[in-house]
This record gives sequence, structure tokens and C-alpha cells, in this order.
Amino acid sequence: MLDSTSIMELDELPEHLIVLGGGYIGLEFGQMFRRFGSAVTIIQRSARLLSNEDDDVSEEIASIMRDEGIDVLTSTTAIRAEAIDGGRATVTVRGEDGERQLEATPILSAIGRIPNTEALATDAAGIRLDTHGFIQVDEHLQTSVAGVYAMGDVTGGPSFTHSSYDDYRILHAHLIDQRTVSTRDRVVPYAVFIDPQLGRVGMTEREARARGHAVEVVKVPMNTVVRAIETGETRGFMKAVVDADTKQILGCAVLGSEGGEIMSIVQVAMLGKLTSTDMADVIFTHPLLAEGLNTLFTR
Ligand SMILES: Cc1cc2nc3c(=O)[nH]c(=O)nc-3n(C[C@H](O)[C@H](O)[C@H](O)COP(=O)(O)OP(=O)(O)OC[C@H]3O[C@@H](n4cnc5c(N)ncnc54)[C@H](O)[C@@H]3O)c2cc1C
Repeated sequence: MLDSTSIMELDELPEHLIVLGGGYIGLEFGQMFRRFGSAVTIIQRSARLLSNEDDDVSEEIASIMRDEGIDVLTSTTAIRAEAIDGGRATVTVRGEDGERQLEATPILSAIGRIPNTEALATDAAGIRLDTHGFIQVDEHLQTSVAGVYAMGDVTGGPSFTHSSYDDYRILHAHLIDQRTVSTRDRVVPYAVFIDPQLGRVGMTEREARARGHAVEVVKVPMNTVVRAIETGETRGFMKAVVDADTKQILGCAVLGSEGGEIMSIVQVAMLGKLTSTDMADVIFTHPLLAEGLNTLFTR
């Protein structure tokens, strides 16, 4: 069983890589090895890949993966893995059609990371952990012990390099610059580095509805964006969730060429409180991918 570090040490191409987990790490590695030439099966316990995303995003990504020849098994649980000879292993999976066995060479485990806090003996210092072993911190990143701080993945917040770096900025501001800043209400974007990329910021459509917003959804397929047509990278779509009353942009998902970069434009617009009407009226340079945002917000 490999993890995302040991798989990088492989010196030959796996014949059949089984990826446990359809989150971002599983998808990125699955697509990469498929493009290297391995047969790839992704096993995902929930009904959709990237299960925190909206249904249409997950479905489009599953369709992109399947079109590349990746076997995507959703609503499927791996219940047993056994090593057999010659570096091979069998994985028993249970899906909607019952149990079956798959043969792998090798298996990549991409089903989540756990905090490495056991070795820290935090209880000796009175530092509280949550039930999953993450260090509990307040909005200023202070632990349960005054003057002791924690930052990054180990706090159980958003687990990204940029959010960990933002934690550092918060602590620096607080401890060195004597300014009070906090993690409250910060907007943490992310990108999934599959091809095409998924850039995401703010609320999904599902979240916005659950929070009681009157939701307006605007969406354009990438095959209507001039730059995408010119470069022949027309898979995916741009989607934004707008508050129908205030026209504030609540979130966006850009699944397409340079999706992360396009999403960042919307992120800055959100931070600057630009409305969807403002975005429809921005003059973007022709023929950039950003121009697609005019079309998106004009809908
Ligand atoms: C395959 C993969 C792909 C990823 N891709 C992205 C991406 O594209 N973009 C993104 O933003 N994020 C990505 N991430 C997440 C990102 O790597 C983490 O969110 C980020 O590294 C967190 O930084 P950190 O400083 O909190 O923890 P880490 O980077 O994990 O650093 C913690 C350090 O503490 C050390 N350590 C642990 N225990 C102890 C101890 N007891 N004593 C001393 N030292 C200790 C560890 O060895 C490590 O060096 C990815 C993660 C993985 C696994």
C-alpha cells in the first residue's frame, strides 16, 4: 500500500493502480498515472467524487476521468486488501452490485490524513486535542494553554499550504506587530490540479441554499469561452453562486483550463464586494479566459 509520498519513489510504471479515495489527491494521482500509461481504478465510498462539491462539478469531473479510461467506482467501499505474489495485491470492494475482487499493482491510499499529535504528549502541557487528534485553537490560533499557539494542518482547519501560510501571517501580526487578527470569516480558496483544473472559492450552491440565501446560479460551459475554443481546451464550465437579492457573489467553481487563475479573479471580486452586475460590466482583455467571466455574469 503506497501513500502520496512513497508513490513518487516508484521506478517502474504500475500495470494497474488502484486508488482508494476520490478526493483531490486521489484524482490528481489517478489522472497522472493514467496519462503515464497505467490502468487506473478510483474507488470512492460516497456517491460522488469530491463529495463536498456540487453535484454538477462532481459529475463533470467523473465524466472527464472516465473519458480518459479511468475506471471510477463510486458508492463503493474497499473492505479488504491482501498482498499476493510478485508485488501484486487484491482489493475486495463492496458496491451497489455486491462484492468483487480487483487485482492491483499497487494500491495508493488517498483516503485522508491524520494529525501526527500522539508523539507530542500534549496532555502533559494541558493542550487540548479534539476527538480526531487535531490541536484545538481559537480564532487567534491560541491553544487551550495561554501563550501556546498551533498553526497549519495540525489545527484541523483548511488543510492547504496557503491556509497554513495565512496562519503564519496571523501569528506574525499578533505576536510581532501587536495587531489583533483572526481566522474568523477568512475566505480560503483552493484548486484541484487535475486537467482541466478546478478552482473553487466561497460557498457551493448546496451550501448557499442550506444557509438560506435566495440563490441565483450562473453557469457557462467552457466551449463558449473564446480563448478555450482557440486553445482547444473546452471541457468544463464556469459557475457562480450569487445572492439573488443583493447580487453579491457567494462562491464560484471554475472547472476548465487555468480554472484556479480564473477563480482567483472572482475571489478578489468577492473580497472587494463587487456584485455580479459589476462583473458583467468589467472590460476584460480579448481573448483571455477571463473574458468568460463577462459572459458568466451577464447570464
Ligand atoms: C499529495 C498532496 C498534495 C497536496 N497538494 C496541495 C496543493 O496543491 N496545494 C495546497 O495548498 N496544499 C496541498 N497539500 C496540502 C499541503 O501539503 C498541506 O496543507 C501543508 O503542507 C500544511 O503545512 P503544515 O506546515 O501545516 O504541515 P506540513 O507541511 O505537514 O509540515 C509539518 C512538519 O512538521 C514535521 N513534524 C511532524 N511531527 C513532528 C514532531 N513531533 N516533531 C517535529 N516535527 C514534526 C513534519 O515532518 C513536517 O515537516 C497537499 C498535500 C498532499 C499530501
